[in-house]
Amino acid sequence: MLRGAHLRVTRPRLEVLAAVHEHPHADTDSIIGAVRRQLPGVSHQAVYDVLRALTAAGLVRRIQPSGSLARYESRVGDNHHHVVCRSCGAIADIDCAVGEAPCLTASDGHGFSIDEAEVTYWGTCPDCAAASAAQKPFRQEMD
Ligand SMILES: [Zn+2]
Ligand SMILES: [Zn+2]
Repeated sequence: MLRGAHLRVTRPRLEVLAAVHEHPHADTDSIIGAVRRQLPGVSHQAVYDVLRALTAAGLVRRIQPSGSLARYESRVGDNHHHVVCRSCGAIADIDCAVGEAPCLTASDGHGFSIDEAEVTYWGTCPDCAAASAAQKPFRQEMD
């Protein structure tokens, strides 16, 4: 993949790419942790630099839902969207509704040539929904 993107193949780049593949939607700290398990001496700055290079080369996609840290994933180029849990921040992929960007047609594009619609679905993940359902009787007693 690195050679295909005309990037020099280095150990940190290989390890960061592997970490992003293994941990979709991981934030930078999680990626640093995963890379350091394979390459203990690697610096924060080196991982940041590699993530920037991989993102610029289109091998990695950077997403940043509002209120969240930047996350990285290796699923690129398919215009998929994300659903984010408001409670715990868990993120899952949602396929593009029509299969290609911009996915949503603007009601009035104001003459712009629109090539992307950034869609984020917000809600409660199954774990958080189950946890809050389990807490409800307790809350009612408190009232
Ligand atoms: Zn959640
Ligand atoms: Zn994704």
